[in-house]
Amino acid sequence: MLEKNNILNDVIYKYREHFYKTEGLEIDTIKEHVENGRIVVLYNPNHKGIKPLLIGQPSKIKVNANLGTSPFLCDVNLELSKLDAALKAGAHTVMDLSTGGDLDSIRKEIIEKSPVPVGTVPIYSVAQKYIKKGQDVSKISETELLEEIEKQAEQGVDFMTLHCGVTKKGSEMAKHRVLGIVSRGGSILAKWMEVNKKENPLLTNFDKLLDICLKYNIVISLGDGLRPGAICDAGDSAQMEEVIVLGELTKKAWERGVQVMIEGPGHVPLHLIAAQIKSIKTICHNAPLYVLGPLTTDAAAGYDHITGAIGGAIAAYAGADFLCYVTPAEHVTLPNENDVYQGVMASLIAANSAEIALGYRDATNRSKMISMARNDLNWDEIVKYALDPNIIKKRREKFAAKEECAMCGEFCAVKMFK
Ligand code: SF4
Repeated sequence: MLEKNNILNDVIYKYREHFYKTEGLEIDTIKEHVENGRIVVLYNPNHKGIKPLLIGQPSKIKVNANLGTSPFLCDVNLELSKLDAALKAGAHTVMDLSTGGDLDSIRKEIIEKSPVPVGTVPIYSVAQKYIKKGQDVSKISETELLEEIEKQAEQGVDFMTLHCGVTKKGSEMAKHRVLGIVSRGGSILAKWMEVNKKENPLLTNFDKLLDICLKYNIVISLGDGLRPGAICDAGDSAQMEEVIVLGELTKKAWERGVQVMIEGPGHVPLHLIAAQIKSIKTICHNAPLYVLGPLTTDAAAGYDHITGAIGGAIAAYAGADFLCYVTPAEHVTLPNENDVYQGVMASLIAANSAEIALGYRDATNRSKMISMARNDLNWDEIVKYALDPNIIKKRREKFAAKEECAMCGEFCAVKMFK
């Protein structure tokens, strides 16, 4: 059970009509699910101009778009265009994962311009200071880490990925994998622990992290620093060791009134996704699950938004609550605006498919309205209810005056049957 959190109680009450309008959920239902940790409310009062967002079924399945520079490709304007593309496509949240350039000013700009909750991975900013100077990340001090987290909370970050569950034991286990550790945060911490011969500073300072997160109502996204990055590593001991630690930390956070999400896999073959989702949820006391894909094959670079959508649909149907998009640029390069748009659309399709299967009223109604409009060859209505209205308008442009579309022309089956 989540202990008292004053900011949260006020937000739920203040935005009850907004929640009812967007989610169809009554305030009592939301309160009950927030109290038992199944729903989190993303909302840092310092992030001006946003509306709070619910994550966790039975609220709708949400989609996140990752933004951010890299040391090789660092253009703030490109990141702001990517933010626009993500919002245009319908992303519910964005994460600034920048690792190149002036990270403070990029983060501030994204927070200022984003009307949706913003997430970060604070360890990147601390690590960048060392990497830029050619120094080793094992020199990061524990105080610096905590100061960075507090600074980003103060700036208005709504949720933070903190890889508190990567332990010395887990990272040792990951050495036996085909593809080691693929999480940037996870690998920084593994190196820090190995060199300093100490346990993960985010784990040993967990109580101090909770103080900061409670003060700003930061939702901790307990990172999966040991997530499998290869199909053949899926479900191994390193992954599961971390999940068990995350389950223990979830309870500790709730005892202090701090909200928690759990980050999930990774690369997982299709037939193992449902079992993994259900066991992670059980071990982590049904806290909302934020999945990265999951990717169902390692062989589809260039098309990994499709791989991620296949895995995301199955994961959401099995209980995952929040889908982190994957773009066509995954595993190859930094995404551009078009990649971001494609990635968000792919994840929204996955979320919508799962919601239909789960019987969500808005999703099933939407499908029915589209089908009725198709039966009437009513293109305005088809566009109105489509997940991506723009693409229909664009593709139909040349034959917009026709009742049928250019797929069958006078052979239009719908028309013929009538
Ligand atoms: S032309 Fe073919 S594809 Fe287009 S609306 Fe008619 S039946 Fe459907």
